[in-house]
Amino acid sequence: MAIVEGKACPACGGTELAEGEQAGYSQMGHRGKPLKPGSPIVHVFCTDCGIIIQSYVSQPQRFKRTTVKV
Ligand SMILES: [Zn+2]
Repeated sequence: MAIVEGKACPACGGTELAEGEQAGYSQMGHRGKPLKPGSPIVHVFCTDCGIIIQSYVSQPQRFKRTTVKV
C-alpha cells in the first residue's frame, strides 16, 4: 500500500489517498484468451470515504500486439 501525495479526494476533500492492487483472478485479462498473462489493476482511492479516484493497468505492454522484452 502506498500513499499518494499531492492530490485530494473530489468527493470529500480528504488528502490521504492510497494505492491498492487488484490481482489474481480479478486482474485484467485478455478477452477470449484466458491463458495469456494479464496484468494487475492498480486503484487509487480515498482512505476516508473509499471513492476510487483512478484505476490503471500496471503492465499495459502485455496487451500490445508485439511485446518487446527489455
Ligand atoms: Zn474521500
